[in-house]
Amino acid sequence: MFSKLMRQTVKQLLTGSKGIVLQNKYPEMNDLRLNEIGLYLHVPFCRSPCMYCPYFKEKYDRRKTIPYKDAVFEEIKFYQSLLKGKKITSFYIGGGTPTTLINNGLEDIIKKIYTTFDVKCSVSTETHPNDINIKTVDVLRGNKVENVSMGVETFSDRFLRILGRPYNGKKAKESVKTLVENGFSCVNIDIMFGLPNQSIHDVEGDIKTALELGVDQISAYPIFTFPHTQLKDIVKEKGYHLSGILERRNMLKRIEKLCYDAGMRRTSVWAFTKKGVKKYSSVTIPHYLGLGAGAGSLIPGYFFINVFNVEEYIRYLNKYHKPPVALTIDFNEREEMIHWLYWRIYETRIYKKDFNELFKKDFDETFGKIFLLLQLLGMAEDKSDRIVM
Ligand code: SF4
Repeated sequence: MFSKLMRQTVKQLLTGSKGIVLQNKYPEMNDLRLNEIGLYLHVPFCRSPCMYCPYFKEKYDRRKTIPYKDAVFEEIKFYQSLLKGKKITSFYIGGGTPTTLINNGLEDIIKKIYTTFDVKCSVSTETHPNDINIKTVDVLRGNKVENVSMGVETFSDRFLRILGRPYNGKKAKESVKTLVENGFSCVNIDIMFGLPNQSIHDVEGDIKTALELGVDQISAYPIFTFPHTQLKDIVKEKGYHLSGILERRNMLKRIEKLCYDAGMRRTSVWAFTKKGVKKYSSVTIPHYLGLGAGAGSLIPGYFFINVFNVEEYIRYLNKYHKPPVALTIDFNEREEMIHWLYWRIYETRIYKKDFNELFKKDFDETFGKIFLLLQLLGMAEDKSDRIVM
């Protein structure tokens, strides 16, 4: 009750509004008032959906892939005039599992995006250990993919079995090796900790393996029991132990030490990146347009989300030739600032100059009092040009 009240108070202090209103309306998209923007492509297919996963995905069905690609083409066509003269400075493909579309439309979509828009960057994509081999890596490298992020989760056969992941530790290592040896600018792998019955020693084993394999970045997340996933029921049914907050904190400290000892730096709450490597991140730019079923977009004035259902997404685009927006939220300038700030806090660093340039406002005048309070609470440090969390 008290924490809920605190959360509401902080939210009101930051946003100056009482809450977010979801609306079933189409955002106005006549003029973006931007010179540059990011693109996000959502590929909602997974070959083997995981029981702990909260993301929107559908079981991979080859028959849906080409109609899906054609619908994305329609969406690209819709945005062509809106993005005329704008630079695309970030292009990220997420899912689901984007690489399920290799040889099934992914290359065509990437090419279409490069030939339609003024893309000034390479591609970053998520992938899965079972999708990686020399041939698929060649396809990715041949289609401007420079940064990859693979959900390994653990190298241990025992924990992979508990999680129901459809590969073993040997395959996970082979896939990581294939990525590391094939010239990507950044290879990130996701490792989960706090798995059912997992000890700190087990976590240590995963991180050491990742470091030995030479990955550029490790994103280490605690497993979360989201309400609408099966994980909670399975833990209860099998009598597994799930680590509490203190155990998880100790695990994270151990991960932190291993990564720092290996010469990595912290680049977000959960990520550690090799020195000299540009961090892999999906949130590099304040405004972006999302393509695909369930994709979100943030443009000046609005945040909106496409319909999640793949068939509905395809049907709507074929019929109306415009994105099937399911929900829209009016975003005022203050809310845009908070959104920007949220991701910078996630990255553990806020560069005041970036804020001043983006919003044409002074960071200290806008958020100075809040960060003074956070400093007094020992949660932030003001280093004049930047805030370090
Ligand atoms: S492969 Fe990734 S996106 Fe797909 S269900 Fe598993 S965790 Fe979720």
